[in-house]
Amino acid sequence: MSKTNKFQRPKGTADILPGEIETWQKIEETARDVFRVYGYEGIRTPMFENLELFDRSAGETSDIVEKQMYDFDDKGGRHIALRPEGTAGVARAYVENRLYGPEYTKPYKVYYMGPMFRYERPQSGRQRQFTQIGCEALNNESPQVDVETIAMAMEFFKRLGVADKLKVTLNCLGDKETRDAYRTQLIDYLKPFYDQLSDDSKRRLYRNPLRVLDSKDATDKKIVANAPSILDCLSDYSQKYFDTVKQQLDALGIKYEIDPDMVRGLDYYNQTIFEIMSDSPVFGGDWVTVCGGGRYNGLIAQVGGPDNGGIGFGIGVERLLLLLQEENPDFAPQPGLDLFFTAPDEDGSNYAFKLMIRLRSKDVAVDKDYEGRKLGTQIKEAARRNAKYFTVIGDREIESGQLTLKHTQTGEQVEVAVDDLLANPQNYLK
Ligand code: ATP
Ligand code: MG
Repeated sequence: MSKTNKFQRPKGTADILPGEIETWQKIEETARDVFRVYGYEGIRTPMFENLELFDRSAGETSDIVEKQMYDFDDKGGRHIALRPEGTAGVARAYVENRLYGPEYTKPYKVYYMGPMFRYERPQSGRQRQFTQIGCEALNNESPQVDVETIAMAMEFFKRLGVADKLKVTLNCLGDKETRDAYRTQLIDYLKPFYDQLSDDSKRRLYRNPLRVLDSKDATDKKIVANAPSILDCLSDYSQKYFDTVKQQLDALGIKYEIDPDMVRGLDYYNQTIFEIMSDSPVFGGDWVTVCGGGRYNGLIAQVGGPDNGGIGFGIGVERLLLLLQEENPDFAPQPGLDLFFTAPDEDGSNYAFKLMIRLRSKDVAVDKDYEGRKLGTQIKEAARRNAKYFTVIGDREIESGQLTLKHTQTGEQVEVAVDDLLANPQNYLK
């Protein structure tokens, strides 16, 4: 592509090309396998929703809503936003489709994979259109479901061969009683530092002081380091709930660290929250979150439904891919063909062309040269296409109906009649 090409993809987006797509597809396949055995089914909600849904759920003082929303008025004057995350849409769909009735499973477990949109400064592992694989267990409030959700994420990472490179961090944000008590303590602690706080934090101090804990501003971070811990304010219910979650994680041998400062970027979280992080060299040595999740009791009611609890997580696939390329580069097999056809002339080419269509209907992956290039070039193409075998279709082959299949790696040859190949292709193309 020339430098003067006037069509370039928008900033913060990516083209995922063959060569990389195999890894994406295998990640998706692995996710489906793991989610299935944990009792989840797929769900697809719209990529855009009414802006108000995200205001209501993620929270007006969250970075996502304040700064990162891709929103616009559509031609009918509706205020629309491209979804910045998946949970709000799933909660909305759950309520709108009344998925809490007695005819539905409890918990109602669903997963999704797809693009999310946030207006952020693009950098490695941070895009404006990015991909999340996420799951939500709705209509439940049991420590077992919290533990199972974390276990499921770790099982997924294990199957990807990167679990050893990750750590689970855990915190408890408590129930409403906990947060009301903590809010007062936190404001009292932060008030004397008011003048030193960043503008964002000043604005958020009285509206939503927990957001100050999540600030990335260096001075804010220093101030926050000595703030009281929410873990000292837990209500009896939250303390018992959190203790049970920890005990059950211990019993399953799932290691975790408690991070009492972790609050996560969305307002709907409460009780158990967690992040799964990596400090792989691909991330420049910092701990980077690959998977973030937590409980959101109250969210469903907030978007107009019954007071059902829920918990879920979202995995950032672009970041996961960076980790995978570093730690397990051979995760996805290279694409290849079973058989590549070559021919010195047009008769051979036409013969091969017809035979290929029949073989493909038998699920055999085959291809050929389409431009009558030199035979030697065609044979080289067979190797480049990672074909297990290649064959040359000349006059002799057309007359006799007997083909010679040559193994591209070993050079070993197999003779086969076309009819036999069509009848039992897998016998000859092992
Ligand atoms: P961060 O603090 O890194 O901005 P976040 O708290 O905004 O993350 P979540 O909203 O919890 O992230 O989203 C879950 C995961 O989605 C993140 O851990 C990350 O892997 C991924 N993610 C979030 N924003 C982006 C982005 N702009 N580009 C790529 N991946 C992203
Ligand atoms: Mg963010």
